Amino acid sequence: MLNEKQYFPELLNCKICPRNCSSNRYSGKLGFCKSGSDSGVVSVCIHKGEEPVISGQKGICNVFFGHCNMQCVYCQNFQISNNNNNLIFLSFANVIEKIIEIIKSGVNSVGFVSPSHFIPQMKYIINELGNKGFKPIFIYNSNAYDSVVQLKSLENYIDIYLPDFKYFDNKLAEKYSDTKNYFELATLAIKEMYRQKGSSLVINDEGVAESGLIIRHLVLPDNTENSIKLLEFIAENISRKVSISLMSQYFPCNKSSYYFEINRKLLKQEYEKVINTLEKLEFNKGWIQNLNSSENYLPNFIEANPFKKKKLSF
Ligand code: SF4
Repeated sequence: MLNEKQYFPELLNCKICPRNCSSNRYSGKLGFCKSGSDSGVVSVCIHKGEEPVISGQKGICNVFFGHCNMQCVYCQNFQISNNNNNLIFLSFANVIEKIIEIIKSGVNSVGFVSPSHFIPQMKYIINELGNKGFKPIFIYNSNAYDSVVQLKSLENYIDIYLPDFKYFDNKLAEKYSDTKNYFELATLAIKEMYRQKGSSLVINDEGVAESGLIIRHLVLPDNTENSIKLLEFIAENISRKVSISLMSQYFPCNKSSYYFEINRKLLKQEYEKVINTLEKLEFNKGWIQNLNSSENYLPNFIEANPFKKKKLSF
C-alpha cells in the first residue's frame, strides 16, 4: 500500500527547473508552474503516435504531467498544460496501478511527458515500479527547459531522452512561451543528455529503442529561420550523428489566434526548406514527420484515452 503523503524535501525551496522560483510547493504560494506536491499526473494511456522506435508495434505507456514550466501559446496539450487550469491529479497508487496494467498488456516502454517540474515525483514512481519488479524502458519527454542538476540525478533512471529543442531565437521563446534564456538553458540541458547517452541509439530486435537521445524539433509557421539556425547549431555544437526528429504537426490552437503569423498550419514550402537544411547538414539518423499529420496529433484529455481515434504517422 503506497503512502499518498509522500514527502519531497526539494519542493520546499523549489529549483526543480531553470526558473528557480524558490517557492514552497507545500504552501499555498506556488511558483510559475503552479504545481504542488501531489503526483502531478493527469493521464496514463497507451500512445501509438511517437517516433516508430519509441512507439514500436504495441505503443508506449505515456504518463502525462499537468501544468508546465513553459506556457506555449500554441500548446496542443493546453487542456492540461495551462497553469491556470484546475486539474485533478491521479493518486500515486492509481498512477502505478495504471502503468503496471499497461506493462502487463505487453507494452514495455513508459514515457513521462512534460516531467521537468515534477522530477521528484517521477523518480518516486520509477522507484515504486522497481520495488514491484517492473523495469520497463523509461523515456524522458520534455521541452528541454530542464535543470542540469536534476538531469544529472536522472542518470540511473532514464533510458531515453526525448527533448523538444524548440527555439534558437530567445525572442520567440519569450513571445510564444513566456520563457527567458530558453536557448542557453536548453542547450545546457541537451548537452547533459548527450553526455549521458551520446549519439548512438540502441535498438532491440523488435525495433524498439532501449537507450539513447533523440532531439525533436517542431517547425513553427513563419519561423523557418529559427529552425534552420537551430539545426546548424546542433550540427556544429552537439553532433551530426545524433538522431533528429523533425516535426510538422503544428496546428493553430490554444492562444495562437492572438498571433496572426502562427495562426495557420505549416506550409509545404516552409517545411521543405527546413528538410533541405537537415539534409544539407548531413544529419543521417532520425525521422521526418508527414506534413499532413497536424490534425492527427491533437489530443483530447477529456477522453480516457486522449489519442483515441487518431491516425498517427511519422
Ligand atoms: S518546477 Fe515550478 S516552482 Fe519549481 S522552479 Fe520550476 S516553475 Fe518554479
